[in-house]
Amino acid sequence: MRRISIFGATGSIGQSTIDLIRRDRAAYDVVALTGGGNIDLLAKDAIELGADVAVTAYEDRLDDLKAALSGSGVQAAAGAQALLEAADREADWIMSAIVGSAGLAPGLHALRHGTTLALANKESLVTAGPLLMRTAQGHGARVLPVDSEHSAVFQGLVGEDQSEVERVIITASGGPFRDWSLERLEGATLAQACKHPSWDMGQRITIDSASMFNKALEIIETKEYFGFDPDQIEVLVHPGSYVHALVGFRDGALMAHMGAPDMRHAIGYALHWPERRDLPVARLDLAKVGLLRFEAPDETRFVPLRLAREVMETGGLAGAVFNAAKEAALDHFIAGKIGFLDMARLVEQVLNQMSVDVRLDAGSLSLDNVLAADKEARARVAALQPALKK
Ligand code: NAD
Ligand code: MG
Repeated sequence: MRRISIFGATGSIGQSTIDLIRRDRAAYDVVALTGGGNIDLLAKDAIELGADVAVTAYEDRLDDLKAALSGSGVQAAAGAQALLEAADREADWIMSAIVGSAGLAPGLHALRHGTTLALANKESLVTAGPLLMRTAQGHGARVLPVDSEHSAVFQGLVGEDQSEVERVIITASGGPFRDWSLERLEGATLAQACKHPSWDMGQRITIDSASMFNKALEIIETKEYFGFDPDQIEVLVHPGSYVHALVGFRDGALMAHMGAPDMRHAIGYALHWPERRDLPVARLDLAKVGLLRFEAPDETRFVPLRLAREVMETGGLAGAVFNAAKEAALDHFIAGKIGFLDMARLVEQVLNQMSVDVRLDAGSLSLDNVLAADKEARARVAALQPALKK
């Protein structure tokens, strides 16, 4: 039996992971499940899967969780420290699917025990890529990509010599605002940003897809995970989301990874790697799809794509600042305090303000300086936000 834990079990990726586990219950021994405020769901899944412990990120919800788990034999725990303790529990495979930079520390803890980390939490690589990869290497642990584009590239590299790769192309659906003008984007509402044309995901990543911040994070994620040069990484808008990524080789060949837009593919690939197993995902009927459409991305309308290039150029703590400023700006947009395009404005201003402080060589990144940069960037967004008030 494989011992597994799921961080962010109550979210979109967490629930898709549980769906796969549920189909093959006898193969897994569930160690820890973690969630946030959705206590009922967390407790229900922890009891059903017979987890050793269930952890809510919110300290003030401990009593609720205890009550929901009472008599089940599943332990209850709460708070940031409890999350780290859960990550320290022995496991063979951990799904990292907390949203935001809160996912970084538990992932680092798990890697220190040599545990395989299935990484949906792209923010870990954006904020602290060199630290995460170095920690994995130092402890003989593996990080397996779960983001669909990165899983696609990873699969495209199987059996290949990475030095023969010329470029990688990650696709972007373009989100609901793909063909909107800048004037229209200015007035985009929360409800409109929450409607993704092809993927069903958590609210935050759905809005990040509409703003292209998600693709900006993924460009950086590609650089940090695979070690490609920024100028080898391209983005291609592909509204259907059938092609997840393409790997281009020195002889001009392009290997595309295709499939239905269903995260259970990438999750299942990471769960069964290095094997392939049956997965309950729809099979693509390409005759029905008919045409595949591609477009160049527009960096004037989608500023985050340009910012991602600047972040990679600066290096050091720029990724931590970029991600945290984005998370804070997104909070303000969700709260209705700023407009849709103000998110990129705030992030760019904070990056400019902090451009000198973030310079640091990759080897000096630590959890402490990453978290300090994260905190500082959020404080700067809070200070700048009133000037952009709607
Ligand atoms: P979600 O919002 O649906 O779920 C997030 C999970 O994290 C929940 O369990 C929530 O309780 C928990 N959480 C939230 N804040 C927390 C905190 N401060 N501390 C601890 N736990 C916290 O998010 P999601 O869409 O499942 O995405 C999870 C991660 O996977 C993100 O990093 C996202 O970018 C990445 N990802 C998601 C998809 C997708 O299809 N949903 C695809 C690719 C990558
Ligand atoms: Mg993705």
